[in-house]
Amino acid sequence: MTRMGQDASRTSHADVPITVPFNRPFIAGKELFYIARAVTQGNIAGDGEFTRLCSRLMEDRFAIPHVLMTPSCTAALEMAAMLCDLGPGDEVIMPSFTFVSTANAVARLGAKPVFVDVREDTLNLDETRIEDAVTDRTRAVFPVHYAGVGCEMDVILDVARRRGLRVVEDAAQGVDAYYKGRALGSLGDLSAFSFHETKNFICGEGGALGINDPELLERAEIIRDKGTNRRQFFRGQVDKYTWVDVGSSYVPSEICSAFLYAQLELTETINASRRAKYDAYLRRLEPLEREGRLRLPRTPEHCRSNAHLFYVLLPDEATRDELAAHLRSRGVLAVFHYVPLHASPMGRKFGYREGDLPLTEDASRRLLRLPLFHEMTADEQDFVVDQIEGYFLRCKRRPAA
Ligand SMILES: *Cc1c(COP(=O)(O)O)cnc(C)c1O
Repeated sequence: MTRMGQDASRTSHADVPITVPFNRPFIAGKELFYIARAVTQGNIAGDGEFTRLCSRLMEDRFAIPHVLMTPSCTAALEMAAMLCDLGPGDEVIMPSFTFVSTANAVARLGAKPVFVDVREDTLNLDETRIEDAVTDRTRAVFPVHYAGVGCEMDVILDVARRRGLRVVEDAAQGVDAYYKGRALGSLGDLSAFSFHETKNFICGEGGALGINDPELLERAEIIRDKGTNRRQFFRGQVDKYTWVDVGSSYVPSEICSAFLYAQLELTETINASRRAKYDAYLRRLEPLEREGRLRLPRTPEHCRSNAHLFYVLLPDEATRDELAAHLRSRGVLAVFHYVPLHASPMGRKFGYREGDLPLTEDASRRLLRLPLFHEMTADEQDFVVDQIEGYFLRCKRRPAA
């Protein structure tokens, strides 16, 4: 079951055992060894050796001045929203085609998510529509790098600079992905990464806050540590630590960081394996695209994705649901998302309704994600593709889209 109950294929064929799951969490190398080391060293709370190692590795590899590890990407987004000083009456521009955490981070401070439609090719926030959505209450833009494909950051950063807006990248899906040679998460003022078990690099639940504007570092450290200046105390910058600002508990456990460090050490191996599977899907499904049976995902020339997820767009919702059910009946779990946030019960409370964002709604109805994970075998992937081909052979007599 994916999150938010968006897995319709679960309703039928529940008795057929799953042969190819949608995702399978994996051990990449030294995870358990590092956890043992953290435990025997006697420090399993936060900000010990492994939390530091993870931060440093991300700072170096992605050229981000400061990275603070967090218990989730949701936590990092909450911190980012607090660092943007959002409050009631403020507006933040973001896509509706995203996970709830992007909008919650803003809404929980009383600010309003302003939903803008997506580009048809990448399903990322349409950068050409941002300027029209800016009002005198707009404080920030939260672009989401969907599927690990970069948003048009040059345009977004230019609008933000001209209109005095903060930019927070939701790079939950974009770890080790690049836009014009620069890492996603290194471009905005702030960025949020996820290490949830469904992402490319995992530790069960985990995340990180990237800080590209050094002026935000000090307050970020305070918010992360229960509103105290404890980090400054440990560095000897103050002689006692105390409550200095609002904050929360946004430090992850060393156990999670130890697990994560083992994964981050193998960044290249893991993403190479994902990219190979992604390319194999593209290659094998290309004939179906040529016949007009489905549409494959697009990656702009100047973006290097991390192959976070592989989706296909079917001609209509009925075909998408039928293909998902067909795959489920063969033991393959393919799932869809997102219920557009603007059309959700919460989105409606902000005054949105179905029909406001046609491209988002259309993608949401026609999109199907195929199994893609580090340890997926060639046989498993062949099986998935064979079942998709089988489905379209079965309905060959119907007209193509
Ligand atoms: C996964 C995801 C999140 C939330 O990540 P958590 O680590 O589970 O909190 C936020 N935004 C997007 C776009 C995501 O895909």
